[in-house]
Amino acid sequence: MNKEKITKAGEIAKQVKEYIKPLIVKDTPLLEIAEKIENKIIELRGNPAFPTNLGINEIVAHYTPSHDDKTLAHGLLKIDFGVHIDGWIADTAFSIDLENSEENKKLIEASEKSLENAIKIVKEKIVASEIGKVVQETIESYGFSSIINLSGHEMKQHELHAGITIPNFDDKKNVQLDKGVYAIEPFATTGGGRVRDGKPSGIYILIDSKNVRSPIAREVLQYITEEYQTLPFCSRWLVNKFGTRALLGLNQLQTNGNLHHFEQLIESSGAKVSQAEHTIIIEKGSVTVTTR
Ligand code: MN
Ligand code: MN
Repeated sequence: MNKEKITKAGEIAKQVKEYIKPLIVKDTPLLEIAEKIENKIIELRGNPAFPTNLGINEIVAHYTPSHDDKTLAHGLLKIDFGVHIDGWIADTAFSIDLENSEENKKLIEASEKSLENAIKIVKEKIVASEIGKVVQETIESYGFSSIINLSGHEMKQHELHAGITIPNFDDKKNVQLDKGVYAIEPFATTGGGRVRDGKPSGIYILIDSKNVRSPIAREVLQYITEEYQTLPFCSRWLVNKFGTRALLGLNQLQTNGNLHHFEQLIESSGAKVSQAEHTIIIEKGSVTVTTR
């Protein structure tokens, strides 16, 4: 584990959060928000660890603006972004209410409070389900549901979702958290507490670098392999680099089995969802929150 690089990534994430918060107002194009976040990360000498996720209301995760996205910020907006330095990741998220709704504010408070309560009990060797229990109990104390088929996760170098998952409910499993880097990310909803797959997101991950025939697909594949390695990326980034012909290349790479294309994740009953997330380092005798 490279603590220096993980800490630095966290410092950049904190600065980006402070920078972007006042800029997110109702009717700001999501495309503008994503680009401002990602450009700021680069300006501060980090790299985006994955495409900025901007989920409005029932869209829980895996929504990133396309290159020609016209969607305007509104409702209950979740902002989830990541920073990496040499593959060492800080993953963090927060939610904003853009319609002055008491219910939205309460949902946001519920996910934030459940994250704080979870962080308080974390220590080396803690059983992951105990974290999930605290998350669920806190969210339910507000009268909301915790989304149980999404979870926090371990992170390793160049690996956003590695090994251990941290449930958002008491899953009764006996998995202990060893020393390492983890993201805790509760979601609170007025709905039933599950997500379903939605439309294709334009977010991809490389799963196989096997050869492909088409020249544009080859060109895109080479770029992905060098720039993103095993971290997620999006069609918007590739259109910025290659123009819209990148979209053809991505389709061919998906058909050829080189890429996994993520679907959007939607709250099953169409209910609103809030999210909060921090990255922590567990070491012998200490827990550090890198993104707070
Ligand atoms: Mn995240
Ligand atoms: Mn995460």
